Amino acid sequence: MSNIVAIVGRPNVGKSTLFNRLTDSRKAIVDSESGVTRDRHYGKSEWNGVEFSVIDTGGYVKGSDDVFEGEIRKQVKLAIDEANVILFVLDVSEGITGDDEVVADMLRRGKKKVFVISNKVDNHVRQGLSGEFYALGLGEPYNISSISGSGTGDLLDDVVEALEKDVNVEELEIPKFAIVGRPNVGKSSFINALLGKERNIVTPIAGTTRDSINTRYTAFNHDFLLIDTAGIRKKSKVEEDLEFYSVMRSIRAIEDCDVCLLLIDATLGLEAQDLNIFHLAEKNRKGIVVVINKWDLVEKNTNSTKEYEEKIREKLQPFKDVPIVFTSALTKQRVLKAIEVAEKVNESRTRTIKTRELNDVMLPIIEHSPPQALKGKHVKVKFITQLPTHAPSFAFYCNLPQYVSEAYIRFLENRLRENFDFNGVPIQVFMRKK
Ligand code: GDP
Ligand code: GDP
Repeated sequence: MSNIVAIVGRPNVGKSTLFNRLTDSRKAIVDSESGVTRDRHYGKSEWNGVEFSVIDTGGYVKGSDDVFEGEIRKQVKLAIDEANVILFVLDVSEGITGDDEVVADMLRRGKKKVFVISNKVDNHVRQGLSGEFYALGLGEPYNISSISGSGTGDLLDDVVEALEKDVNVEELEIPKFAIVGRPNVGKSSFINALLGKERNIVTPIAGTTRDSINTRYTAFNHDFLLIDTAGIRKKSKVEEDLEFYSVMRSIRAIEDCDVCLLLIDATLGLEAQDLNIFHLAEKNRKGIVVVINKWDLVEKNTNSTKEYEEKIREKLQPFKDVPIVFTSALTKQRVLKAIEVAEKVNESRTRTIKTRELNDVMLPIIEHSPPQALKGKHVKVKFITQLPTHAPSFAFYCNLPQYVSEAYIRFLENRLRENFDFNGVPIQVFMRKK
């Protein structure tokens, strides 16, 4: 279901340098310009047509300049639990250190595919030194230089091959919903409200990772898989671990799902961390339902819901075409409604619009408000088609795609949203050369 590549290793071996190289940090800069808080340790990447996520686990460990063995262990355990493929980075100029052995020991016992990375191989002399890393018992080392990028192509060829072999065998053909949100927003309560007394209609399905509990729900004409991230609370004893683990679990759950229900605590409103999870879902082009939970705690007048909704939508800009449901997990109010909305979002996300219908609706709109002529050139859109991608994307074929402005592409997206229901669904619009 998901493709997650985790980077592990002790401090200063070059993990974040490699992370930046794999995730194309130029894109990230664009992100920060649009005011989006960027996660510096999580990014998307693509190689030979295979998309995957890259996580710099070291980045999530606090005080990594003077790191304790325990912190390194935590980082590696997380990678073994959550990733499909692990990149174990070593520094060829320093050889094997005690900390490296700690990491290697854990990785040998974990069941995940590991690539041994001999980093900082900037020249031929250093190439010869990598042989030492064979002794770790984790296979042949890959010589790379994260700074120059040399060797990373060969590494990625093998990484995506390993990812493709790792695809999950028992993939169920039912919608997958993830319940995500920060600690204490009410995820466990929400799931209990949903499953509660009807435990008997629930079949536990072995999760892809040891700790995630995926539950199939079949009742009242519903059939879906719930991906639960609530278990985190019970696991981590230390307060500061909570955020760390919840981010990691959210990533996994979001990658595995079709639609995520992002729970917000109504008494706190939508904060930066909630927005981070929202953008994570958007970046992965998953369906989204915003669930304002603990609505029972908010004092209401006749306009409260409307006003609250408007405030939330403002913060979600520019992707504000998202359903918002107000629930109380405590009194079970509208919990099932939230699920029904998720089902609707899933339908919109998997629907294919006929080319004929697309053209009948969109071509007259384009004729009425054509792209502005740049440098005296006229852009003529010939036809539109939905691409066979897993999340909705549309190609507008025209004579001069490079002359179409970002603003006009947004205009097209908004008209698509008005005419075809994509509430809660990230969509993409491409201008293509006819
Ligand atoms: P991290 O702590 O493992 O994330 O390591 P960093 O990515 O911060 O890198 C630690 C240091 O090693 C920095 O000064 C990097 O510039 C340097 N470094 C990373 N990759 C290479 C490389 O391929 N060659 C050389 N010569 N230096 C590198
Ligand atoms: P999680 O960490 O997201 O799984 O959150 P929990 O489900 O453990 O809930 C955290 C706290 O909020 C618990 O004390 C719950 O009883 C409480 N809570 C959860 N949902 C609601 C709700 O809708 N209304 C009220 N008043 N409290 C709630």
